[in-house]
Amino acid sequence: MAVGDWQHEVINAATPEALLTAVASHWRRWRQRYPDTTINLALGVHGQVDPITGASKTMPQAPWKTPVEIKYLLEERLGIQVRLDNDCVMLALAEKWQNPAANADFCVINVDYGIGSSFVIHDNIWRGSLYGSGQIGHTIINPDGIACDCGRYGCLETVASLSALKKQARVWMKAQPVPGRDPETLTTDMLIDAWRKGGRAHSGMGGTCRQRYWLKPV
Ligand SMILES: [Zn+2]
Repeated sequence: MAVGDWQHEVINAATPEALLTAVASHWRRWRQRYPDTTINLALGVHGQVDPITGASKTMPQAPWKTPVEIKYLLEERLGIQVRLDNDCVMLALAEKWQNPAANADFCVINVDYGIGSSFVIHDNIWRGSLYGSGQIGHTIINPDGIACDCGRYGCLETVASLSALKKQARVWMKAQPVPGRDPETLTTDMLIDAWRKGGRAHSGMGGTCRQRYWLKPV
């Protein structure tokens, strides 16, 4: 959850109710700091979102598999206006808002825990039918691959998301331990640094890239 001046707080919610309670709790904390200001909420969530009703239709990485009326429930609880949209759509809107040179046609690809994207075509967000546009992370690229959070197998994000790459790196590090290198402390910066040190020949983030780096600790 991004709050105020780029603060970042992690919410690990096991249920939709826990998620709503956590968001409401954060809001109340900021409300106490700025009691004379109306604080509405704009929330970007991953997965399929209906921006009109403000319902999260599917959230593949969450433990629950049912739609959640996030906008309605938070507005009821907090008495404010809540806007809800897909996180990648919000990234694309931010690009249009913050970058005057942004083209009328572009695509935002977000690679973090999962992989998502958003398409801007003729200056408008392309939402697709059922608001499913941009869910490229769940394109099956290996039918015999590992299980994905969405319930299928071999989705793109099981191979190429940041969490998948870190998992692969940790497995590799455990198989070929190097003194002073604890696989459990692997950070995103370390992984990206390893990729950079791997050079062009290893730009595929493959085992060789990690091998070169982890065998020669710096
Ligand atoms: Zn999937």
